[in-house]
Amino acid sequence: MGSVFYNLDECLRNIDERKKTIDINVGLRPSGNLHIGNVETLLVSCILSESIEEMGYDSTVHVNICDLDMPFVNENFDSKGHGYTIINYRDMPDLEGCHDSFSLHMANEIGQLLGLVNENVDFNYDFNFFSELQNKLDFRIALKEIFDNNLEFKKIFYGNQSKKAKINDVFAYPVCLKCKRSSKKSAVYNPQDMSLSSKCLNDFCENNEFIFSLFDLDYDLALHYFLNDALRDIVIEPFADIHVFGGDYSLKHSLNNMRKIEKVKKIAEIITPHIPDYFVGPLIQGKDCQKMGKSKGNGLNIFELIEKKGNDIIYNMIDFTRKNIINNPEYPKNDSLRIDYKQIKDILKID
Ligand SMILES: [Zn+2]
Ligand SMILES: [Zn+2]
Repeated sequence: MGSVFYNLDECLRNIDERKKTIDINVGLRPSGNLHIGNVETLLVSCILSESIEEMGYDSTVHVNICDLDMPFVNENFDSKGHGYTIINYRDMPDLEGCHDSFSLHMANEIGQLLGLVNENVDFNYDFNFFSELQNKLDFRIALKEIFDNNLEFKKIFYGNQSKKAKINDVFAYPVCLKCKRSSKKSAVYNPQDMSLSSKCLNDFCENNEFIFSLFDLDYDLALHYFLNDALRDIVIEPFADIHVFGGDYSLKHSLNNMRKIEKVKKIAEIITPHIPDYFVGPLIQGKDCQKMGKSKGNGLNIFELIEKKGNDIIYNMIDFTRKNIINNPEYPKNDSLRIDYKQIKDILKID
């Protein structure tokens, strides 16, 4: 257990034959509309699950909706304007007004999409919300393990730049109970009494400093996504057998030469040697050869595309993924996990 695969054949050959069921985890942080990068990651998970069922195992895709987010990775984050934007999607209103929260709207969009995929791909799935997972005691106990080994974590995170690391700064961003927004600053952990202290930095909130126990489940903790990725696989049942990542996890993290996926693996290993296998899906390239995504401003909204071009868009993406990614022993060639813009243009019938 605990290898990184880019090629499906290799991933399937390494399945533990003693198991009856294979649980696949995939996480999404669709802070806006679902874009085709998200869709590709979901498709890879679904088709992988179908392939595993064909081999005689039961398999479920657990879609994790990452509804607690850190401010600086969120495109709604406004550092100059009104303090710090809500990043607790569960308490954030649905922008389109059709659901009780932004979080539920996200789940609905993903559900709609998976419904369409299910017409062509035979797989089972369920949803989990990160806000609920991180509120379980087991999760906090595992988090304590990371916080108690914060130096080791920082070494993995920063690589050789670990001089930047402040020993008790942990990568958790507690949500203020008064304004329901999270702090921009990472919390400070006190290993003696297992408390976290944080500051609400929102302009409109008078709640300045607050201290609480790591095990106080009234406090939501937005976490750095590396922590979220690593922990949810191994502390909440069913534990993941395979975690599917989007293609940008094959890229090197900005801080040093280590691939993001390797960092997640090492962070999980702080907790337990029994970590899942990781399968990394392809990265979709934009017109400008950059990674396609909202953060680069070149992302394509899947439902806008479906509205213009019909459901065929999804079926074409499924066909392409089956043929070129999943059932292609040659994939990825030369360590390249990219689907280039020329290819995606044909699939999506766009210019
Ligand atoms: Zn809605
Ligand atoms: Zn506040």
